[in-house]
Amino acid sequence: MSDNRRSVILRSRPKGPPTIDNFSLETEPVPQPAEGEVLTRTLWLSLDPYMRGRMSDRASYVPPTEIGAPMMGETVGEVIESRDPRFSPGEVVLGAFGWQSHIVTPADRLVPLPKGAPYSAYLGVLGMPGTTAYSAMKDIGQPKAGETVVISAASGAVGSVAGQLAKRAGARVVGVAGNSDKCMFVQESLGFDDCIDHRAVMDLDAALQDACPDGIDIYFENVGGDLQQAVFPRLNTFGRVIMCGMVAEYNDTKPRPGPNLMSVVRKRLKIEGLIVTDKPERFAEWRELAAPWVADGTLAYREHVVDGLENAPGAFIDLLRGHNFGKLVIRVGELTRGQ
Ligand code: NDP
Repeated sequence: MSDNRRSVILRSRPKGPPTIDNFSLETEPVPQPAEGEVLTRTLWLSLDPYMRGRMSDRASYVPPTEIGAPMMGETVGEVIESRDPRFSPGEVVLGAFGWQSHIVTPADRLVPLPKGAPYSAYLGVLGMPGTTAYSAMKDIGQPKAGETVVISAASGAVGSVAGQLAKRAGARVVGVAGNSDKCMFVQESLGFDDCIDHRAVMDLDAALQDACPDGIDIYFENVGGDLQQAVFPRLNTFGRVIMCGMVAEYNDTKPRPGPNLMSVVRKRLKIEGLIVTDKPERFAEWRELAAPWVADGTLAYREHVVDGLENAPGAFIDLLRGHNFGKLVIRVGELTRGQ
């Protein structure tokens, strides 16, 4: 095979926000699959905020990426060579991991993708972020008609789905997003009832009070920072806080002070952390439930597409600054055969 493999390698650990120098692009011969393995050529690479945690050498629910190793990230790829009877060249699969143009993966870890929805959707609305939103609402938030739900990072991969699920349950849904275009999308395309532009408002407390006159029953936490401080005093009795992520704090070098927690007792609040992989059964469940909604357009989503593996580091740095608008995916290659 004449192709080379290109990989984005972690060269050094960032102190604060990552920089381009933390990464390097390296080339080597394409590896060959062993018995039971499959070689894929990457079509789409998912970039997600959790990857910032893997760049640091600190204890987490997943081990950090080693210096000199490829960055990890979920991909959609075309099978080039298969040493497992379940896969054939030309098939499109989900589940190979790496910021790489070619990846060898044990066949057991790959999921064949059906034709129908655009393949990139399996990294976003029909994939891990969509499943996160589904699990958050089903297992923790459980919104009810008439309740008020606040969704942070509302135009993003997870927030956009979470808010639409809360709307389906009959709740009043208020998004928080980082500019006026994002807020317009949140209200007009996703159907949220209101949206606060957190970078434009002078007084976040007053904006929340205006948008949530009956208080907040569910807060879907994706960002942390000032918004978290502003939400806590407005939570209603028996309110729920879904702790999904705190992207505004991922580049911090020391932890910020948390909110005063006496209200958790007084208001009998439930605060629960979520890691989507804790309930693996939710992935297939969500794909089955959501695929018809994506097909008929009743579940809206937006992608932010960046072309070229070499541009993944810059796109990732921008994601942590809120410069993406929708699910961030890298178009690494085009389909060559089959499908
Ligand atoms: P998004 O597509 O929402 O992109 C991240 C968004 O975060 C940005 O667009 C921006 O939106 C906001 N943001 C970034 N930096 C800042 C900042 N400094 N201050 C405030 N907002 C900021 O990402 P995802 O939907 O993929 O992820 C959303 C959250 O969900 C993250 O915290 C992520 O870690 C978490 N997550 C957790 C999972 C789990 O299993 N627990 C699984 C998947 C995701 P804006 O401009 O609107 O502020």
